[in-house]
Amino acid sequence: MDWDDFARWGGRIAEWGAQYHKTLRERPVRAQTRPGEIAAQLPVSPPDAPEAMDAVMADFEAIVMPGMTHWQHPRFFAYFAANAAPPSMLAEQLVNTVAAQCMLWQTSPAATEVEGVMVDWLRQALNLPQDYTGVIQDSASSATLSAVLTMRERATGYTGNREGLSGKGALRVYCSEHVHSSIDRAAWVAGIGQDNLVKLPTKGERFALDVVALEDAIARDITAGHTPAGIIAITGGTGVGASDDLGAVLEVAKAHDLYTHLDAAWAGSAMICPEFHADFWNGVAGYDSIVFNPHKWLGAQFDCSIQFLRDAQPQLNTLKIEPEYLRTTGDAVTNYSEWTIPLGRRFRALKIWFLIRCYGLDGLRTRIRNHVQWAGELCDALREIEGFEITSEPILSLFSFRCPGSDADQQRLVDALNDDGRIYLTQGALNGRKVIRFQVGQFDCTRDDVMMARDVIEEIWRQINGRKVKNF
Ligand SMILES: *Cc1c(COP(=O)(O)O)cnc(C)c1O
Repeated sequence: MDWDDFARWGGRIAEWGAQYHKTLRERPVRAQTRPGEIAAQLPVSPPDAPEAMDAVMADFEAIVMPGMTHWQHPRFFAYFAANAAPPSMLAEQLVNTVAAQCMLWQTSPAATEVEGVMVDWLRQALNLPQDYTGVIQDSASSATLSAVLTMRERATGYTGNREGLSGKGALRVYCSEHVHSSIDRAAWVAGIGQDNLVKLPTKGERFALDVVALEDAIARDITAGHTPAGIIAITGGTGVGASDDLGAVLEVAKAHDLYTHLDAAWAGSAMICPEFHADFWNGVAGYDSIVFNPHKWLGAQFDCSIQFLRDAQPQLNTLKIEPEYLRTTGDAVTNYSEWTIPLGRRFRALKIWFLIRCYGLDGLRTRIRNHVQWAGELCDALREIEGFEITSEPILSLFSFRCPGSDADQQRLVDALNDDGRIYLTQGALNGRKVIRFQVGQFDCTRDDVMMARDVIEEIWRQINGRKVKNF
């Protein structure tokens, strides 16, 4: 392919993209394919002779697209949204085209410096103190692993990397039972071990970590000769939005000199709206590490996860390695690959710059406020359907509910809704029961998209239960 062809195809693909997004509502949200159906349409072996781009593009539409679940569909209510605002997509096209490896300052100074400024813009947007710096990671999972490794190294006097963990006893990390599975995996991979990730009960409407249980657990561990290493708090857990009392947890951490990491992967985006701070952000200042994903609610497309650090030094002490071939000379500069586990880095900051400039924080705030408002309205509408039960009240824009019947009936309804295709939602678990999660967060969704879900849910529920379908 020469560069004239590249320009022609680039234009055609941009046209295709605009058309795709303008007609998304006509497609089923979740892919309606069976396992193996897509693979069966691909040749078993690669072609020896070159093929025309026309043929490749035609197969993309015919074979690949029917097997895609449409994450940018305005009626995507499953998991959490993975928003990709148009300016962020355009920035990614530029980044893809320049295709730089941004591991060191000198391997692309602009990437490093824009990243530094974007982290600081977001720090201000989230109202964190001025002394926080940070880094853009691929995912919250990576940021959390970095923080747990830092907990480990700090608790072992920075000897773990050199000596290994043998003979060092049990390092203990504390969190609530509502943490995301990425916290478990970080404990596995960091050599802490699942058994030393102490999951504690929660209390109240927001499912906040019980700090009395936290204190007790730490005291018991110290008596048993274990080494408490850190605490992981959450703002906006994945299941039902569990949110800890950040100030109370931090106080316990300070009393025992423990490293703290806050997982705000989803809800962090909503903290650009000051009105949510009283309920969800009080006490945040002081956490050693905080992660939030602009690639979820905010609109910077995947991958884009911000890890703020109160003091970068402990994480640098944990992860920085400088072989001769990576050494740079001259003025002191920031080399972000020293802050993270992977060496290679994409230029992720550009899409944040495009996004924030094209919408302004106000434009992004309006979307988030609408989503929270509409989630509340829909929750009240579902509450009115006979036999339906709200199992967790909205936390920001996430709530859960049950239809009448058993756990199997919940799954039946979720599957039938997703087979229908007009909306997409997923199940979760709460207090040992299956619940149906509903989150509002897709960048282009409207109030009508959200409220339509009420009618679709009742209609499909009646259908699978052999009840008469009401006329809406
Ligand atoms: C989505 C999510 C994660 C994982 O995020 P990745 O960026 O996919 O690793 C972690 N914690 C919470 C609360 C989440 O919602």
